[in-house]
Amino acid sequence: MSVDTLTIPTQRVAKSRISEVDFDNLQFGKTFSDHMFVVDYKDGAWQNPQVLPYGDMPLSPATSSLHYGQAIFEGMKAYKNGDGDILLFRPLANLQRLNKSAERLCMPELPEELFMQGLEQLLRLDADWVPAKEGSSLYIRPLMFATDNFIGVRPSLTYRFLIITCPVGKYYDKPVKVAVEPNYVRSAEGGAGYAKAAGNYAAALLPSRKMQEKGYDQLIWTDAKEHKYVEESGTMNIMFVMDDVLVTPSLSTSILHGVTRDSVLQVAKDLGFRVEERRVAVDEVIAAQQAGKLTEAFGTGTAAIISQIALIHHNGQDYELPPVETRKVSNQVGAQLDKIRTGQAPDTHNWVYKISL
Ligand SMILES: *Cc1c(COP(=O)(O)O)cnc(C)c1O
Repeated sequence: MSVDTLTIPTQRVAKSRISEVDFDNLQFGKTFSDHMFVVDYKDGAWQNPQVLPYGDMPLSPATSSLHYGQAIFEGMKAYKNGDGDILLFRPLANLQRLNKSAERLCMPELPEELFMQGLEQLLRLDADWVPAKEGSSLYIRPLMFATDNFIGVRPSLTYRFLIITCPVGKYYDKPVKVAVEPNYVRSAEGGAGYAKAAGNYAAALLPSRKMQEKGYDQLIWTDAKEHKYVEESGTMNIMFVMDDVLVTPSLSTSILHGVTRDSVLQVAKDLGFRVEERRVAVDEVIAAQQAGKLTEAFGTGTAAIISQIALIHHNGQDYELPPVETRKVSNQVGAQLDKIRTGQAPDTHNWVYKISL
């Protein structure tokens, strides 16, 4: 089955909303493009894929995902290159993760052909919604949820998978103040922290809000057993540069396997930086800061790519980091990643999937 030969039934909007959109003032996640991709799972198979006008869906009050949370999602971005082609960054990595999340939540696997075909047809139809402006992109949100009208606890027999998209502007990246979380946990070994499950986000809202009330933008999650080891920062993976080495917590079942994390580590190695994936103790980070050896700290994720950390709070103390302009590793890696994603640097790892219009 090839992406070009099969056509998904498509219902176009009568009139595009694109002329109503102010592309210079986009708020993240508020503006949706004209169409969406929808496919339903029942009787053991994905059925009836369609591209439809973006819009509301009727739901039964007994929809099982609303009760028991069988709901997962993904996030990725598309860019336009100088020739007007659409460039997707590592879409198959996102599909693989979607399917790992699905497995963990007892949901059906989505086949690669269906995902890529739906994605490609949607993007071709809404190609004008992919911003060409520097720093802008089309944020792509695939999601899957259980649709059985049944309030007994068991894996649903029916599901819906959708892809919706939002044009987004340059991420406003003021360096953030983060605080080490001493009590709450995001996830534990053996839990579902590696899955992009909706429920993980719900459970993180209260700890995040409490941290914000104390004046910090974001929290650093620590391990569930001892609160001694760093896990992630908010909804991003976290990295440090200590003693000229780029260090990040190694992957486990409690850490989300970020595509940006993986890409940053690879590009850092390509640029000749030393990289370590291992356990990172909070005390080690604080000691490095005290010794003047903590030169960088940042989060990684699709939305912001690199989110610089200005300050780390731990045990009643604020520890400041050097100015962002001095941060060699993250600045160089971020700039290189930017060039690869937008087609301005050679794609040596085959990360870019081009849709020629
Ligand atoms: C999505 C996510 C990330 C970042 O993953 P990317 O693939 O880089 O966008 C990191 N941590 C959590 C908890 C996430 O949900």
